[in-house]
Amino acid sequence: MAEVLVYVDHVDGAVRKPTLELLTLARRIGEPVAVALGGGAAETAATLAEHGAVKVLTHEAAEYAEYLVVPKVDALQAAVEAVSPAAVLVPSSAEGKEIAARLALRIGSGIITDAVDLEAGDSGPVATQSVFAASYTTKSRVSKGTPVITVKPNSAAVEAAPAAGAVEALSVTFSAQATGTKVTGRTPRESTGRPELTEAAIVVSGGRGVNGAENFAIIEALADQLGAAVGASRAAVDAGWYPHTNQVGQTGKSVSPQLYIASGISGAIQHRAGMQTSKTIVAINKDAEAPIFELVDYGVVGDLFDVVPQLTEEIKTR
Ligand code: FAD
Repeated sequence: MAEVLVYVDHVDGAVRKPTLELLTLARRIGEPVAVALGGGAAETAATLAEHGAVKVLTHEAAEYAEYLVVPKVDALQAAVEAVSPAAVLVPSSAEGKEIAARLALRIGSGIITDAVDLEAGDSGPVATQSVFAASYTTKSRVSKGTPVITVKPNSAAVEAAPAAGAVEALSVTFSAQATGTKVTGRTPRESTGRPELTEAAIVVSGGRGVNGAENFAIIEALADQLGAAVGASRAAVDAGWYPHTNQVGQTGKSVSPQLYIASGISGAIQHRAGMQTSKTIVAINKDAEAPIFELVDYGVVGDLFDVVPQLTEEIKTR
């Protein structure tokens, strides 16, 4: 069976969820071989093996933390040369997409970004993407070189699939460009205790209907009961009610959670662009004609100031 390289996104050995989702997709098209780099790389092996990695290629060096993405591209290129994989899968984070693009250029391959699904095809893996502000779903495959594919978080379930996960040291020679851009400092964002918006399994969003920064407390209360991230429409962000980092949509973040709850959001095309691939969509809106109701699985016509607190209380009792 062909091997499929999976780039491991981890923090000091703790594997992030989008990588485990990639292992699920990788198993559909071959045998997952994980590539873990930097401090804590070896500690990722047990988790990766539990989720289907037949092998874990590791390389620890200070360069991965001290410089921007090029050392990681050098390492992935070395892994491609060592394994000759059927595809390389990378999580669709900002860093992941830069790594994937640079790698594709290096190895002369085609690239598909922001896939939301992946299946085996006769001539290589077939990726599904959601395009043109989510108006169309396309299927495509790379026709040149080793396919490099980035996959959006929450595109697949995390599945337990015990495998050997044998750890092997990857031999990497850094290129002349590897040390070109040095990281001079890192400022951790103040934690809200909520999951990262793009990775959360549940997102609760508020729009203009929330009618004020202080009222976002009711959106946050529901989010906290569900262990969800908080999102906002551009109208709410532009009004200064919620930070831009939480904006969902064409000019904000793209989310694809299992459950998306939109409160006081009309469902403009630019908002849909960032959430339409969510698995289950719920909307609370007092206007029965609001366009958001065209795409929901469940809709509540009502005042969010009545409905959202009731929902929060109901969930509390369970
Ligand atoms: P509105 O459209 O004003 O809708 C508010 C809704 O709240 C209404 O449906 C109303 O019935 C309902 N409501 C009011 N009060 C209550 C209540 N008490 N209870 C229940 N419901 C209530 N938008 C984004 O969201 N993300 C983007 O990334 C984005 N990018 C854009 C990029 C471009 C180039 C452009 C031109 C626009 C972009 N927009 C984006 C803006 C987008 O077109 C809409 O203006 C915006 O999404 C509207 O936000 P909203 O739904 O919160 O507000």
